[in-house]
Amino acid sequence: MFLAPKKVIKALEAIRRDFIWGRKAGKHKIRWIAWSQMTRDRALGGMGLGNLRNTNLAFMTKWWWKYKAKPKELWTRVIKAIHDNNRSYKLIPSNKKVAGVWKDITKAGKELESMGVSITDELTVEVGNGKAIKFWLDRWSGDRSLKDAYPGIFKIAENKHAMVADYVTVLQNENQWFITCTRPPNTDEEWSQWANLLQQINGTRVSGKEDRWGWKSDSKGIFSVAAVRNQLNKAEVNQEVEEWKLWNKWVPPKANYFSWRAALEKISVKRELVRRGMNISNVLCPRCGVSEETVDHLICECRVSQRIWVEVSKWLKVPSISGRRNCKELMEHCYTLKGSGDWRKIINVVIQAALWNIWKSRNDKEFEGHLRNEKEILDNIMEDSFIWVKTRSKIQGIVWERWLDFNIRDVVS
Ligand SMILES: [Zn+2]
Repeated sequence: MFLAPKKVIKALEAIRRDFIWGRKAGKHKIRWIAWSQMTRDRALGGMGLGNLRNTNLAFMTKWWWKYKAKPKELWTRVIKAIHDNNRSYKLIPSNKKVAGVWKDITKAGKELESMGVSITDELTVEVGNGKAIKFWLDRWSGDRSLKDAYPGIFKIAENKHAMVADYVTVLQNENQWFITCTRPPNTDEEWSQWANLLQQINGTRVSGKEDRWGWKSDSKGIFSVAAVRNQLNKAEVNQEVEEWKLWNKWVPPKANYFSWRAALEKISVKRELVRRGMNISNVLCPRCGVSEETVDHLICECRVSQRIWVEVSKWLKVPSISGRRNCKELMEHCYTLKGSGDWRKIINVVIQAALWNIWKSRNDKEFEGHLRNEKEILDNIMEDSFIWVKTRSKIQGIVWERWLDFNIRDVVS
């Protein structure tokens, strides 16, 4: 319910960030991926850790919604008594002289505004009995408030804060509108606004149901903290980010996460370390010793990796996947093959197991001087992918004997 100060949010995010990337002797380690991308929704190309600030703001917005949607609650009546002097035409009242939580809540509106999300536009209402809707000030008919649409009549309206229910009576199943003004309209302009106003609201039927306040950008128009948070997360993404569709639930998070980073060229191969200011005398690939170690070299171009992809293709009995040029092409490759959805998902598991083991064997060579041969690496890929599919998918009928020659098409529908 409190709007956390920017300083606090920053400190909390720093703790989460250090937890992910690590910190040693007071200095943080290399942060491979911008924190904004780590927190961004997966649907928006991020890692989906969530953003504290947006969650905080979404909870604050809920109080705006509650104020409008639950006018009878004690809480709302207390706020109204303290803050509503019936002079402001804003969506929710705010008495600036009263410090405290409610002031923070009203301030959240400005914060959202600065992110391009207008609460006034978003909080929409479906008319029920009209008891929770201000006739002139809320938007319940047309896309503007009636105050803005018919300023000439608003000016002479007696009660600027009247509710819709105050002005309407149902007689013989028909709405009868009684709008009380301080005087009758007296210019052509006023008469024309009067006529248009009546014509516009005559289309609205009031009913016995409660008015329903919702959130315009939600797919069903329903208010929820999650809907607001999603919208704020989206608003934060200025540039188009390609969605990463290749999260695979049958692959453990550590390996999934590695594939994602490899596809973004954000893993600690020598080229990337140098680009981040590390002083490295030998930038050659530790395995072949011939070319500079880039992400694409590590995964695709290195002859050690090429031989692995050839062996993996043979085992899977699919056309050779050794010609793929980068990690993303590799990951997408399985979806170009003919087979059932689950079968292709398993191929993807194997490809990610291969990426993971190529990376592990590279690190063995780099840090321990041990070069595993292809047979050993292929065995590891087969074992890892088998265990992942067995423990993480619900597919029955895959046994090790079948897995050894990848004879699984008939058990994977
Ligand atoms: Zn190499």
